[in-house]
Amino acid sequence: MSRAAISLIQTGLRDLGYEPGAVDGLWGAKTRAAVVALAAADGGVAGQVAPETSAEIRHGARVVDEIVVHCAATRPEWMEGATIAAKRAEIDRWHKANGWAGIGYHWLIDRDGKVIAGRPEAQVGAHVAGHNSGTIGVCLIGGHGSAETDPFARSFTAAQDVALRQLIQAIGMRTRIRRISGHNEYAAKACPGFNVPAWLKGASR
Ligand SMILES: [Zn+2]
Repeated sequence: MSRAAISLIQTGLRDLGYEPGAVDGLWGAKTRAAVVALAAADGGVAGQVAPETSAEIRHGARVVDEIVVHCAATRPEWMEGATIAAKRAEIDRWHKANGWAGIGYHWLIDRDGKVIAGRPEAQVGAHVAGHNSGTIGVCLIGGHGSAETDPFARSFTAAQDVALRQLIQAIGMRTRIRRISGHNEYAAKACPGFNVPAWLKGASR
């Protein structure tokens, strides 16, 4: 498991109220203890949990088994130079203006591959009508003017390709994911601006 993937697990543990120690990408005693505590709180058996297992971990009161990929439909230069936190805050404002309880996505991936948590995974998101209860929503920054048949690289960066694959891997290590889909599989939308199943079959660039 890569340091980036472990960092994402540590971020997720923090998000859920556990203390994995520093988010440093190292699988140390504190991180291991936090995973065991999370599994125990869920009725799991301490000691059975290892990063290699895919034990189903409940996210609060809900079970998640699918990741749905989105895009922000922003132009490549949108908020250029701003931090991912500032972009998250802006999307949070958009979604509050929709009357939602803040940002509807659980994760955001910036143009440079930086990842930030949105809505806590324990909470049901607001990203795909009719399919929010069992899913985690991941949003790529960019994608303006894209079509659902476009290749990934038309609208997104190589750093985003790597980060999305790592994020999917990290989520899959704490939750049994059965399906990875694109928003366009559930709605007549271009979002995320590429064919997710076809992208998944391709090799990382
Ligand atoms: Zn979408």
